[in-house]
Amino acid sequence: MFKETTQATPPILAPGMLANAEAYGETLGQAHARQETASVLFVDQSGQLGGAEFSLMPLAATWGARREVLLLSDGPFRTRLEALGVPVSLACEASVSDIRKDTLRLSWLGALPGILRQVRAIARHAEGYDILFLNTQKALVLGALGKPLHRKRIIWHLHDIMSSEHFGPLQRLIVRWLTRYAVDHVIANSRASADSLIALAHCAPDDVPVVHNGVDLEEFRCKDAPDMAALRQQFGLPENVYLAGLFGRLAPWKGQHIALEALARIPDLHLVLVGSALFGEQEYVKSLHSQAARLGVQDRLTFAGFRDDMPAWMKAVDVILHTSTEPEPFGRVIIEGMAAGRPVIAAAAGGVTEIVRHRTNGWLVPPRDVTALADAIAILRAAPELADRLANQALDDVAQRFSVEAYLVQMKKMIANVCE
Ligand code: UDP
Repeated sequence: MFKETTQATPPILAPGMLANAEAYGETLGQAHARQETASVLFVDQSGQLGGAEFSLMPLAATWGARREVLLLSDGPFRTRLEALGVPVSLACEASVSDIRKDTLRLSWLGALPGILRQVRAIARHAEGYDILFLNTQKALVLGALGKPLHRKRIIWHLHDIMSSEHFGPLQRLIVRWLTRYAVDHVIANSRASADSLIALAHCAPDDVPVVHNGVDLEEFRCKDAPDMAALRQQFGLPENVYLAGLFGRLAPWKGQHIALEALARIPDLHLVLVGSALFGEQEYVKSLHSQAARLGVQDRLTFAGFRDDMPAWMKAVDVILHTSTEPEPFGRVIIEGMAAGRPVIAAAAGGVTEIVRHRTNGWLVPPRDVTALADAIAILRAAPELADRLANQALDDVAQRFSVEAYLVQMKKMIANVCE
């Protein structure tokens, strides 16, 4: 559906504009009223909670017309959606769930019957809806392959950088083909994600608009703790120490091992890792434990597991680290850390550089650079007034550019446009 092009024209809207509802010249109320008409089937491959799922949640919850979320795996995401009053259906196939994005090879042929069943299940579900909104890679492949069956307009919400660091050659080939021939509209979660698809599929830059994720600032405001000591006590975290926090699933490319190396270099620093292995990265978790033992930092390290209450956990730390070793498609944890009013040190690659301005609203370090990370922690620790200034600016920036309200206005406008 996309025309191939080599033209390098600027995007329709700059990221800053996209994140600002006012830039559209319409109010949230108007946008809500406009979006009532189209019925939407949202499809997501994951039952687990990651950035893509957290961004779908408010959209599905506030979509005014008929909508449903079809999940290709069961898990806590279903419970969260149902608690918000969103109708959810399941179409699970274990053989398909086991296919991993970076290891997609010809072995997927064994999963072919499951793939065909899921393609048909999505097409059947899509029958009663105007739009098929595909929120993840597998949802894209399975939903778009069924286009001859359902013939619905397809929106793909791209939450990935389509580079060879993140995806195998076969997956990239399939995505390139589907983007050209089956997908009607793409919305990317960052300029970095958009550019990676433009490079892969040679589509026109205007065909891949960007809408940055947004967070509910109220959730972060109302979680203000009476004092940090009480919060740490409640979470079993060490009090009266300088505590860094790293939030997100435990996975090699999220770089928790980099943070452990930095921890070893700063003798009295403490670190809490919040998150768990969501997609079978158990070996990595084991390697983190043995790395901690080897470095002798176990007594300064807390593995908190997956937590629901991120605002409070973020407010319980002095500084928030982001250590991804590969370019991050967006990095919700960063805008959450900013909304929590904590200084954020982040790995400067991908969507992160669309959020963090070095020494203005946060601190950027080169990815995988342990020395730069340890230095940055030491600098912010030694200069609390600098850390506060960055955190205050971050709070302003998140309110201006990354609110859930602005995100919803833009997403709803784009979805509504598809039906016009
Ligand atoms: N998250 C959470 N509890 C945890 C760890 C992570 O709720 O214990 C959430 C986190 O707050 C963020 C999302 O998971 O909203 C992760 O999104 P991000 O874009 O940072 O990373 P992704 O996992 O999508 O690559």
